[in-house]
Amino acid sequence: MEPMNLQPFTFEGISTDRPLVIAGPCSAESEAQMVQTAQQLAALGIKIFRAGIWKPRTRPGTFEGYGSLALPWMQSVKEATGMLTATEVANVKHVYEALKAGIDILWIGARTSANPFAVQEIADALRGVDVPVMVKNPVNPDLELWIGAIERLYMAGVTRLAAGHRGFSTYEKTAYRNDPNWQIPIELRRRIPNIPLIIDPSHICGKRYTLFEITQKAMDLNYDGIIIESHIDPDHALSDAKQQLRPDQLGELLKKLVIRKEYIENGSLVTIEELRSQIDKIDDKIVELLEKRMHIAEEIGKIKKENNIAVLQTKRWHQIITQRMKEAREKGLSEHFIENIFRAIHEESINHQTRIMNEN
Ligand code: PEP
Ligand code: MN
Repeated sequence: MEPMNLQPFTFEGISTDRPLVIAGPCSAESEAQMVQTAQQLAALGIKIFRAGIWKPRTRPGTFEGYGSLALPWMQSVKEATGMLTATEVANVKHVYEALKAGIDILWIGARTSANPFAVQEIADALRGVDVPVMVKNPVNPDLELWIGAIERLYMAGVTRLAAGHRGFSTYEKTAYRNDPNWQIPIELRRRIPNIPLIIDPSHICGKRYTLFEITQKAMDLNYDGIIIESHIDPDHALSDAKQQLRPDQLGELLKKLVIRKEYIENGSLVTIEELRSQIDKIDDKIVELLEKRMHIAEEIGKIKKENNIAVLQTKRWHQIITQRMKEAREKGLSEHFIENIFRAIHEESINHQTRIMNEN
């Protein structure tokens, strides 16, 4: 596909300074809960209100949202606070009803973005409608599926798009409800350079006390925004009670965040954290390659053993080192550095081979 020509995910009357903050309860529970929460959030300077109208729940028999009944409450929030409103849509009916009710921003939830049929239907319903859409990552750690969902919307003419990072489910229990798997959103932004990244720490953490560190990390990775759950009485929330913050607690979290300076590289904004994570990825590969190299050396060791050949082949070692030093000069690396590295690698290979030769 051609590079996407995305329009900025910005809103009239809302500062374009990082981060863009979207906050509100997991679910719309009553008009009073919504308006009270919104008023407290608005007092913190937050301009976009989120609430789930239709709730995808893992198990039946839990609160599935008030559905269309709750849409007028979003209107009340707008009237009481002037905030913009955002909600999740999972099918065509949700899209029509949300647009009719004047919802300003739509998002596609993690369970929906994992389903190309559902995403395509939503995209078709949005053809010709200029509404901003955030596409959350699919529940499973599949970058192509996430990109595919974004592409389906883009191809239907939705150009105000953002990517919501809410973590990925894992079978094993981890410290998080959904594993952040930072490499995936970082790679997403490399593939779609202009897409705003919005962190959803609530659904990554699943509990309150790790929310700050995840949000700060996202800011250090140069994310553009935050979508976070906030409820006036979290312990009695009808969904996601453990991860929601009271508006005053959210205010504290936001105040503590350090928004570091960005700098420009090749026309795109990068941060040191982002570059470090690129280095980690390269280091991973180096170790992986070294492991592979040692395996091959062991294979050679077996052949040497069978044929009664000495481990150290001086001619071969000389050939390796001269070849690599020549390459180093061409690539602007010092000969000394390359010689040291290859001496260490060669020594490790010899040790692996000697071990093989001495095995019975
Ligand atoms: C939500 O935002 O409340 C929600 C259900 O999110 P997700 O689709 O990321 O689970
Ligand atoms: Mn939730």
